[in-house]
Amino acid sequence: MELFAHPAPVDLSVVIPVFNESANVAPLLARLTPVLERLTPAWEVVFVDDGSHDDTAAVVAAHHAAEPRIGAVSFSRNFGKEIAIAAGLDHAEGRAVVIMDADLQHPPELIAAFWERWREGNVMVYAQRTDRDDESAMRRGFARLFYRLFARFGEMPLPEGAGDFRLIDRKGVEVLRSLPERARFSKGLYSWIGFRSVGVPYQVEERQHGSSKWSFRKLFRFAFDGITSFSTVPLRVWTYLGGTIAAVALLAALYFVADTLLRGPDVPGYASLIVSVMFFSGVQLMSLGIIGEYIGRIFAEVKRRPLYVVAERIGPAAVGHHRLV
Ligand code: UDP
Ligand code: MG
Repeated sequence: MELFAHPAPVDLSVVIPVFNESANVAPLLARLTPVLERLTPAWEVVFVDDGSHDDTAAVVAAHHAAEPRIGAVSFSRNFGKEIAIAAGLDHAEGRAVVIMDADLQHPPELIAAFWERWREGNVMVYAQRTDRDDESAMRRGFARLFYRLFARFGEMPLPEGAGDFRLIDRKGVEVLRSLPERARFSKGLYSWIGFRSVGVPYQVEERQHGSSKWSFRKLFRFAFDGITSFSTVPLRVWTYLGGTIAAVALLAALYFVADTLLRGPDVPGYASLIVSVMFFSGVQLMSLGIIGEYIGRIFAEVKRRPLYVVAERIGPAAVGHHRLV
């Protein structure tokens, strides 16, 4: 006799990372569950509570009591959205898995369009924002710069305006789960795995409650991680820069030798000396810093720590076959 009844297969999982979003959970579910219900009764919602300080976990638990298809994985502390998504993919059972934000900036109704495109055979269906009006000009400028840098130096281009809001077929989910890296840049990973993908255009909505959890510092870090995860150009560029500088220095040396022989020694030149010494010390420290970034990355990877620590699981995220991570 089987100890546990085998859980019914899930068609559609929705993974939602939440960090201090208690005010958003109820309005989100009120809009989300009717959409899911229309697509299939075999749905589940997996909240990943990223170490919230508020009562997000309790609110989700209350919803779970009323609707067992809603569950949560709670981290022992804040691990960041990227890691929360990874945990969501580890715990979701669906044949298709949707990733979305909790703040209703991602309209749940779009999931119906995802579902259609998925049934047409796309492994990855991503929402593609048509504008970035809600963001400051500076943030938009940096976003554009980032995409341009990534297209130029990364291993593959990223579709512009595509974020984490997307549906991924089980096939893609398993590939993503098998990628072991700790410094996760999901946008890059989604593109890296390949497969048939399609974008669905949408308009980003206003955040419902609370404020964005991203500071400028966090975003910068995120972009930096993105580039360094998918490119070694920042490491290699110093070879060329150093080579050019050395060549120029060699020419200058030849000139000074000839000049000294022909016209005798020349004393002035402190200013240019100091400036060039300072400039090149700066360049050297910067290149060392970049190397340090990558070494730090290697260090983080070789420690082989788990990606996240789970404090608690409730609901659908607590049972199932591949949930012992
Ligand atoms: N989030 C998270 N951990 C974090 C920061 C954010 O799980 O450390 C979640 C957050 O609760 C939300 C989603 O990630 O569901 C997107 O966050 P936010 O709305 O702050 O980002 P933005 O929309 O400004 O990019
Ligand atoms: Mg948001």
